[in-house]
Amino acid sequence: MNLMGLPTNELNVPQVLKDAGLRVTPQRDAILRYLFTHHGHPTADEIYRGIRNLLPNLSVSTVYNTLKSLCEAGLIREIQFGDAASLFDANTFPHHHLVCKSCGKLIDFNLPRTPDLAHIAEELKFQIEEMHIEVKGICDECAKKEQSTQ
Ligand code: ZN
Ligand code: MN
Repeated sequence: MNLMGLPTNELNVPQVLKDAGLRVTPQRDAILRYLFTHHGHPTADEIYRGIRNLLPNLSVSTVYNTLKSLCEAGLIREIQFGDAASLFDANTFPHHHLVCKSCGKLIDFNLPRTPDLAHIAEELKFQIEEMHIEVKGICDECAKKEQSTQ
C-alpha cells in the first residue's frame, strides 16, 4: 500500500501528474513513483541513487528541478531543517513529525485537532500560511542501540 491508499501496482502515477496539471516525463514519473513507494522522507540525493539505474541520463540537478516542480504542483512537500539537505514527503495530508536527533529519521504523526492559532496570529499580526510541528527526540531504534552499547 502507498500513501494514495492503493496497492502500488494500481497506482497510476502518470494520471496523478496529469491531474496536477503536469506534463508526464520519465523523470517526474520515476521520482513521484519512488516517493509514493518509499515511505520515508528521502533527500534528493537518496532519490537520485534510488532511481538512477532506471534513467541512465539522469543528473542530480534534474532530480532537484523535478522535485521543485512536484512541490509547486502540490504533489509533495519539502521539509527543511536549517542547513541540512531538504527532505521530501509524498504525504501531503496535514501531519506532523517526530525527528530523531540521532539518526535524523522523521516519523509522521497526526493530532486529533490542528491547534487553533488564530488568536496568536491576531495578537502577533502574523499571517499563518502553513503549520507543522516538529518534535525532537530519540527514536526507539536509536534508544535500543544506545542501551545495548552501554
Ligand atoms: Zn533514530
Ligand atoms: Mn511526513
